[in-house]
Amino acid sequence: MPTVFKFGGASIKDADAIRHLTPLIEAHADRPLVVVVSAMGKTTNKLETLLASARDDGRKDAYRDCFDALQAEHREAIESLFGDASDSPRERVDVLFEELDTQHRKHRDAPYAKHYDQTVCYGELISTTIVAAWLNHCGIATDWHDARELVRTDACHQSANLDWTATADAIRGRLAGSERVILTQGFIGGTEQSEATTLGREGSDFSAAIFAHCLDAHEVVIWKDVTGLFNADPRRFDNAVQLERLSYAEATELAWHGAKVIHPKTLGPLQEKSIPLMVRSFETPEAAPSVIDAERRFDAEVPCCILREKQVWLEVLPRDFAFMDEPRQHDILGRLVEAGLHANLIDSSAMRFALCLDDKPERLETLIDSLENDYELRREDRLTLLTVRHPRPGMMDALSEGREALAERRNATTAQRLFHSDDCPETWHIPEAR
Ligand code: ADP
Ligand code: ASP
Ligand code: MG
Repeated sequence: MPTVFKFGGASIKDADAIRHLTPLIEAHADRPLVVVVSAMGKTTNKLETLLASARDDGRKDAYRDCFDALQAEHREAIESLFGDASDSPRERVDVLFEELDTQHRKHRDAPYAKHYDQTVCYGELISTTIVAAWLNHCGIATDWHDARELVRTDACHQSANLDWTATADAIRGRLAGSERVILTQGFIGGTEQSEATTLGREGSDFSAAIFAHCLDAHEVVIWKDVTGLFNADPRRFDNAVQLERLSYAEATELAWHGAKVIHPKTLGPLQEKSIPLMVRSFETPEAAPSVIDAERRFDAEVPCCILREKQVWLEVLPRDFAFMDEPRQHDILGRLVEAGLHANLIDSSAMRFALCLDDKPERLETLIDSLENDYELRREDRLTLLTVRHPRPGMMDALSEGREALAERRNATTAQRLFHSDDCPETWHIPEAR
């Protein structure tokens, strides 16, 4: 049974980081080993910027500058790793950059999401070409596989849905029984018509779970720049503590509410096959990891805090003094789904239906254009949503510190409050339990 490793952007951000990967893979001598890799550093963000300038006639110079800078960064890493070595992947990577340029020309008038997937996938195609060449250079026998041919999806671009049967057939058919390290891309897939697709931002964790599920993996290890899963983002909460054990269900809740450390779709495929997930540090691999499996005993041991920033509060009001009853809620939520948005908090009363949404300008505009025809709207921007799982008595008030809450919601396990971002601190502190 294979082990699946997943390395995110931070773990391969430059040549030194890629060098650092080798001992982690070498130390895991048991084969088969499947290694799922993201794009280097912030490449996906840069590819999104490149995409925006490719679609804008007036920004040809910006396109060229951005393209050249991205290529230069990758060349620099290759140069540092391989120098003049004959097994340098420089030429192969240059070909991938040429393909990227061609894809931009070909798709610039296509729908945005399709253009996105045909171009943003190159971040992972390029990074894995470099990492595979590096592992082989270091004497670790590695095969590079194209995830567009393995992770089979529909054509719902930017958030493609998996065809599990075709994916399992492709993955098992091509990868099962390999004695070499299998290296492939996270985040990307492909349709039956061989068009590239992507699984949604931060989707590489989900990719690792897909490979693990299809190959009945022994375990999945996601290597992060933190030692594990904490009860709050350690960058934002000064007293966050690491969680040693957590269940698939609780980890899914944390990810669903916005804990950015694991993609929310990751846990489902692992839970179905009882495959444990380890969250470990690539910087301090000797540190004890967080283990996520079926055990629910530890789920409520410590309260967990999650911040969602850049939120918008949208109040939908009737024009006719009629109730915002179920048929109207159904109508509004239908338009929300059509716009491709998700409500992070919903509040309703007789003549008001309100939604807390991520600030995704294009999608919000679609929703607002549609709702404006039939309802009065009120909108507030620059908001932060705080969610606490298993809050202790008094904790929400202590966390609020007299800040006005625009909205709040509470059930047996979860409390949420929505604040103006300007009222929120840069660094938060989790109050002691009373
Ligand atoms: P990658 O994409 O490289 O796999 P991410 O950047 O997506 O890694 O995830 C790691 C980051 O997640 C950490 O640097 C940390 O700031 C952030 N994070 C947010 N919430 C949590 C949490 N509850 N526990 C640990 N890290 C968290
Ligand atoms: N490279 C993609 C992103 O930055 C996927 C991932 O890293 O998980 O969103
Ligand atoms: Mg990530």
